[in-house]
Amino acid sequence: MRTLSVLGATGSIGASTLDLVRRNRSDWRVVALTAHSNAAELARLAHEFGAQIAVVADEEHLPALQEALAGSGIEAAGGPAALIEAAARGAEMTVAAIVGCAGLAPTMAAIEQGGVIALANKEALVSAGDVMMAAVAHHGATLLPVDSEHNAIFQCLSGGDAADVRWITLTASGGPFRDWSWERLMAATPAEAVRHPNWDMGAKISVDSATMFNKGLELIEAHHLFPVGLDKLRIIVHPQSVVHSMVEYRDGSTLAQLGPSDMRVPIASALAWPRRMDTPCAPLDLAEIGELTFRKPDEERFPATRLAREAALAGGAVPAVLNAANEIAVAAFLAGHISFTRIAAQVEDVLGSYAPPAPGCLSDVLDVDTEARARARMLLNSP
Ligand code: NAD
Ligand code: MG
Repeated sequence: MRTLSVLGATGSIGASTLDLVRRNRSDWRVVALTAHSNAAELARLAHEFGAQIAVVADEEHLPALQEALAGSGIEAAGGPAALIEAAARGAEMTVAAIVGCAGLAPTMAAIEQGGVIALANKEALVSAGDVMMAAVAHHGATLLPVDSEHNAIFQCLSGGDAADVRWITLTASGGPFRDWSWERLMAATPAEAVRHPNWDMGAKISVDSATMFNKGLELIEAHHLFPVGLDKLRIIVHPQSVVHSMVEYRDGSTLAQLGPSDMRVPIASALAWPRRMDTPCAPLDLAEIGELTFRKPDEERFPATRLAREAALAGGAVPAVLNAANEIAVAAFLAGHISFTRIAAQVEDVLGSYAPPAPGCLSDVLDVDTEARARARMLLNSP
């Protein structure tokens, strides 16, 4: 039996994680479950899994959580400090599944305990980059990628030597707009953007998928997780989302990981690592799928991967600025304030207006994030 915390328990990744835990109850003892504001759902999960503590990040919802957990013996807490305290309770495994840079401080708190971190929260790694990787090394933590592409690469690299890698190829579905013209993209609505053809995900990552910022963030994520050099990281569009990524070695062998478009597969791979566990996912039926196709990404219509590559090359604080600007732009798009094509333009504008020095610690990263958000909001309000 191992102890487990799920940061972002009420989200899409949180739900998939807890579905696997539910099927293997005797393997896990749940320490902390956290959510942003959905106190009712969080309390329900905390009851079901017998959590030690439940935390709502938004303190306004603490009274509702306390009421729902009254008499249960489960601690209820609220606010950013409580979130960090819960993440630092030393669970052997922490699933980092908060969306956005909001997950950075609690993820770092978990890393500092030296346990195993199953990382879905890519924005945290993109923003903190070297600072997070240094903390992982310093505290002897183990970072297991949950993002399907990175989980695929991690599997394809096992047993291999990074020095023998010729290419790492991240696959991208291309999102719901992959075949749309620029004119059509300009008028794309939030409802259209969150309707992903292959994956069922939270709203933010669904928009990132549509703009290709998701793949851009993943390129930066891969650059930190698999330090083979940016020039060896490539992106290919693969509309069926069956091949989750590939590693080509110098002898010409390419290893790929395939599977259904169900996040429970990479989550299970992290939960059971280095072993394997059952999942209820439908087996891969390649004869039924029939065809796997691949094509080059189009950076004219989707400039996000270019911006991300430039940010990764520049390094330092630039990826944190890119991430913060994107988070603000995505929220503005979802709220109906800016057009779809304005998202990337807005990110590029913020990158051009703010070039802080490289962060040396977590608080530097958080400062860059705060300032980049402020500038992004200012840009939104300027004519
Ligand atoms: P989601 O929106 O469904 O869930 C996000 C979770 O974070 C919820 O529990 C929410 O309550 C919590 N949260 C939101 N804002 C918060 C804040 N300010 N403070 C504290 N908690 C907050 O998102 P998701 O789709 O589950 O994605 C979670 C992370 O996993 C993202 O970083 C995403 O990029 C990554 N990821 C998701 C998928 C997927 O299929 N959903 C795949 C790969 C990677
Ligand atoms: Mg992914």
